[in-house]
Amino acid sequence: MELFNTFSQRIEPLHPHGNEVTLYVCGVTPYDTTHLGHAAINVYYDTLIRFLRSEGQAVNYVQNVTDIDDDIIRKAREQGTPWDELGRRETMRYLADLRSLNVLPPTHYVWATNEISRMVCVIEKLIERGHAYVRDGWVYFSVASDPTFGALAEAGGYHGYATWLATANERGNMPDDPRKNDPLDFVLWQAHQEGEPSWESPWGLGRPGWHIECSAMAMGYLGHRIDIHGGGADLIFPHHTCEIAQSENSSGERPFVQIWMHCGMVYLGEEKMSKSLGNLVLVRNLLESYTSAAVRVLLLSHHYREPWQYTDDDMRQSAARAAGYVEAVARLESSALATTDDAGATDSARQQFAEALRHDLDTPTALRILDELASGTTVAELQAVKDLGGILGLQLAPTEDEESAHAN
Ligand SMILES: [Zn+2]
Repeated sequence: MELFNTFSQRIEPLHPHGNEVTLYVCGVTPYDTTHLGHAAINVYYDTLIRFLRSEGQAVNYVQNVTDIDDDIIRKAREQGTPWDELGRRETMRYLADLRSLNVLPPTHYVWATNEISRMVCVIEKLIERGHAYVRDGWVYFSVASDPTFGALAEAGGYHGYATWLATANERGNMPDDPRKNDPLDFVLWQAHQEGEPSWESPWGLGRPGWHIECSAMAMGYLGHRIDIHGGGADLIFPHHTCEIAQSENSSGERPFVQIWMHCGMVYLGEEKMSKSLGNLVLVRNLLESYTSAAVRVLLLSHHYREPWQYTDDDMRQSAARAAGYVEAVARLESSALATTDDAGATDSARQQFAEALRHDLDTPTALRILDELASGTTVAELQAVKDLGGILGLQLAPTEDEESAHAN
């Protein structure tokens, strides 16, 4: 398997550290319904995992849920709902949406609020090693203490301190906080504020900063050096850049991550699909008109690294493609086809399919191979559509539930 590494800007072979691939993906902050951008990220990593497993490679996959942060607290206040109830409810809806897209659950699905003690431990190490400082119950990471800080940001196209600061400010950094030594220093722990949830810590009541959650959970479940770390490309800076600084400086081991794998953003019109802009295509709405296979074909027809724009036309074409695969599998199941053909007849197509995915998860090419097989007439070709469609997570035959519902 080889994947594009944002850090080196090259396609690199994946060399797992242990006998399983360790993968950490930044999950959602659950305060709104799942949109196509969330679906894309989950379907790309789900396809990677399904493919690795189909090649006999074990995968230990961790995704977090940020069930406490500024956005949740704000939204809970607006709605007059307790923050934890809002977090739980939205997370359950998110998980149901992903299940309906045939996304397999992670090996560990980790809730930030269950991991506060791990975060406190990492922060204590950073203070001990001179990378963090305490002011009035707040703890900050000292950017100046790490001469390698920002290497991922530079690789990802954010050049120089001024760009970092401007970007961080757009994304919630408080440059004028008088407790900070440097405007770019970021929060590891924030002191309790009226009306906000808080936990005990050596620095008093408070709650963790966002970046520390992922460092603590990734290292806690997967070790100090992980094979693949994923998320949307909008997380390169500051989130993932800060994660590297926290993880490497607390553990003393580097690199924290072998391959940084980032997904391109999904656009609606000219703008990135985002909660704050409100220009969303919701998974739930799409699934009222289209099957999960159709939505997955839409997502996988775009390479995971490519930023792309949603259009209804593209959705309809993907639905037609998916219907072609479903029809091919139906022909196989009901088959009056001759079964005499050589089972090896599709070996070359199967190899090309695996080659495409092995090369930086090239799903658009994999789908084109599926198109050709689906237009075939032999058992071997139709069986290949079923098998390879399964590796892409496409549900091409009715599930047992659907069949029993039909029978009833
Ligand atoms: Zn994260």
